[in-house]
Amino acid sequence: MESGVIFNIQRYSLHDGPGIRTTVFLKGCPLKCWWCHNPEGIDYRQELMINHKKCLACESCVNICPNLAIVLNESVITIALDRCNLCLQCIEVCPETAIELVGLNMTTQEVVEEVQKDRIFYDESGGGVTLSGGEPLMQPDFLLSLLQALKRAGIHTAVETSGYAGWNLLKRVAEWTDLFLFDLKLMDKQKSEETTGTSNEIILANLRKLVQMHHKVLIRIPVIPTVNDDGQSIRLFGEYLQMLGIKNVSLLPYHKTGTDKYKKIGQDYKLPDILPPTREEMAAIGRSFAKYGLNTEE
Ligand code: SF4
Ligand code: SF4
Repeated sequence: MESGVIFNIQRYSLHDGPGIRTTVFLKGCPLKCWWCHNPEGIDYRQELMINHKKCLACESCVNICPNLAIVLNESVITIALDRCNLCLQCIEVCPETAIELVGLNMTTQEVVEEVQKDRIFYDESGGGVTLSGGEPLMQPDFLLSLLQALKRAGIHTAVETSGYAGWNLLKRVAEWTDLFLFDLKLMDKQKSEETTGTSNEIILANLRKLVQMHHKVLIRIPVIPTVNDDGQSIRLFGEYLQMLGIKNVSLLPYHKTGTDKYKKIGQDYKLPDILPPTREEMAAIGRSFAKYGLNTEE
């Protein structure tokens, strides 16, 4: 039985494919997008997250840690994850439940049993299960085993992906996937390297091949002010998607939800201080896409 690391199971999702869905978040992602709102999903390993607002600086965790992985500096707790062996003693001893384990090892069967609890909602709404992340293709055997088990149970499957994976894997995943939610972030190679940590060459090549072989690929573009909302970026998106024969694009306006998680896992939020796009700005971007024959929806 395959198993993998999950960092969230979200029930009653309405924005991750058709109908009412359960979204299962697999841990691990090869990209490091500046605007990522699930930074706890990037590392493929289990890790600890600290809620500094709850912490009393009592030092119980510092004193119990057998690996000296926790330090208190000017009333702020930090954990050196490279020293942590996840013994979880700090979580047990914390009086304020300020330390949280991110990531749970689950078998395919456990995940399927969990999502089956909402089966009635899928059946009544035309929904199903979406496998997201992180990047779900980072746990290939687990992902394939989940998809196969879900399809055998007669559940509609969607995979949300950045498209950054080997083509052979994506092709195998496609056999068991009813719908791809393909998150396309940037067309410009250099900007992609700068703001996501990876080149987009593999992503664009995979998107082209996927659209040719799979009838259900929904392109989703996160609209990130100062990164990909300028005229040149939209022109490049428009030309490429038009060339692929794409008709519909989902635009996901940037939001700040999740930025406080960076502190909790001891990382800096890299995106400059920007505001979410206004309704008018989103509408103007929608009109620009329409010039390339693309219908947009949020
Ligand atoms: S889980 Fe164990 S090793 Fe890791 S920081 Fe907590 S007490 Fe230390
Ligand atoms: S045990 Fe909890 S409250 Fe005390 S210092 Fe550690 S994280 Fe903060």
